[in-house]
Amino acid sequence: LRRNPNEPEFHQAVHEVLTSLSPVIDRQPEFAEYALLDRLVEPERQILFRVPWVDDSGKVQVNRGYRIEFNSVLGPYKGGLRFHHSVNRNIIKFLGFEQIFKNALTGQGIGGGKGGSDFDPHGKTDNEIMRFCQAFMTELSRHIGDKTDVPAGDIGVGAREIGYLFGQYRRLTNRYETGVLTGKGLDWGGSLARTEATGYGTVMFAQNMLADRGMDLEGMTVAVSGAGNVAIYAIEKAQQFGAKPVTFSDSSGWVYDKDGIDLDLLKEIKEVKRGRVADYVAQRPTAELHTDGSLWSVPCDVALPCATQNELHEDDARTLVANGCKVVAEGANMPCTPEAIDIFQEASVLYAPGKAANAGGVAVSALEMQQNASRARWTFDQVEESLALIMKDIHDTCLATADEFGSPGDYVLGANAAGFVRVAKAMRAQGVI
Ligand code: NDP
Repeated sequence: LRRNPNEPEFHQAVHEVLTSLSPVIDRQPEFAEYALLDRLVEPERQILFRVPWVDDSGKVQVNRGYRIEFNSVLGPYKGGLRFHHSVNRNIIKFLGFEQIFKNALTGQGIGGGKGGSDFDPHGKTDNEIMRFCQAFMTELSRHIGDKTDVPAGDIGVGAREIGYLFGQYRRLTNRYETGVLTGKGLDWGGSLARTEATGYGTVMFAQNMLADRGMDLEGMTVAVSGAGNVAIYAIEKAQQFGAKPVTFSDSSGWVYDKDGIDLDLLKEIKEVKRGRVADYVAQRPTAELHTDGSLWSVPCDVALPCATQNELHEDDARTLVANGCKVVAEGANMPCTPEAIDIFQEASVLYAPGKAANAGGVAVSALEMQQNASRARWTFDQVEESLALIMKDIHDTCLATADEFGSPGDYVLGANAAGFVRVAKAMRAQGVI
């Protein structure tokens, strides 16, 4: 706390991991030797930089860029870039810290990092987005590389932004180094199924949780928050499993569609027109728009928070439990507050933390890196099959680890302990660095 003042989300993420680890350290005290835990919570490198760019009116704007290279003991730093007005060092540190354990859980040989900017893409023109991305990459390019640090997308950074970032990297370095970024376009090094991977993986994880208890998503009602990359493809996969997603949201409000979401309409509004949730309601008579109250008041069997951190609070958790919700799987990073998680766990709701449930995105990013390194191009089905196997493996690893440390069914302990053990073993083997 003294070393990292005013970093509440970073403290929250560290606290959750460290409190899970006491049974691990009790059994394997060597993991606390050589200040391993102190080294783990201190990023290997923190890069902060100025991003000056010119808006359409000719005015110079100045934003701040971040890349936190947290831990590279298992492989090159890997983690997304977030462009959102709320970005600061605390947010990027919490995301980078979570990424270490998530990436370890995938078993793909990738370290943990995260980056971004307080640049707000809302209302910016395409040309402004391009100029900002070029300015951002002008500095970032000094720090990344396919064997060093491989950024990807996150909130506010999708295929369009990755395209502009890659173009500028190529211009600056004179290298066609496809493995330097993931989430690329399909014609220039991207992987099929990367766009879908995080949302699909989250729903696959939820299906694994249900299957373990002899249940199935088929026929279940699903509440989803967010209306971005993760939410849209969580809705798509839930529908493919025969479930009925009925909600989504953005920062302007939330929608309840009693007939189930019309995904083609949602994609058209969000992916093509970059519109707001009200545009959906305007074209869909069965849908209601809400600008107050909570999306989590809608009765559901499965809740998938897919928007942002700390979006699902204690009261929401109580309502979900009272309404008979059986599963909560986090598509976003740290969307449930610690108080909400306690309520789920006390009520025996199956709860999966983001570092396990949303690991499908980064896992497929690692598959994109594999395809780039071998100049191969896998089919959609090949990638999706690999994703399903990875999500099942993460699910089973979390459960087995929770059992091993005396807390059967505790996915929080399972994810934190399993990820930590992989990282800690490598940190011990590689010495004090
Ligand atoms: P997008 O930018 O595509 O979508 C984010 C969605 O969440 C938008 O609908 C956005 O609404 C909404 N949102 C964001 N911030 C807020 C806020 N403060 N209040 C209300 N709504 C908000 O991002 P992604 O879908 O890629 O990311 C969503 C979450 O998933 C994040 O937590 C991210 O870290 C996590 N994640 C993403 C992965 C990926 O592969 N993309 C991988 C693993 C995790 P609006 O447009 O109005 O801002």
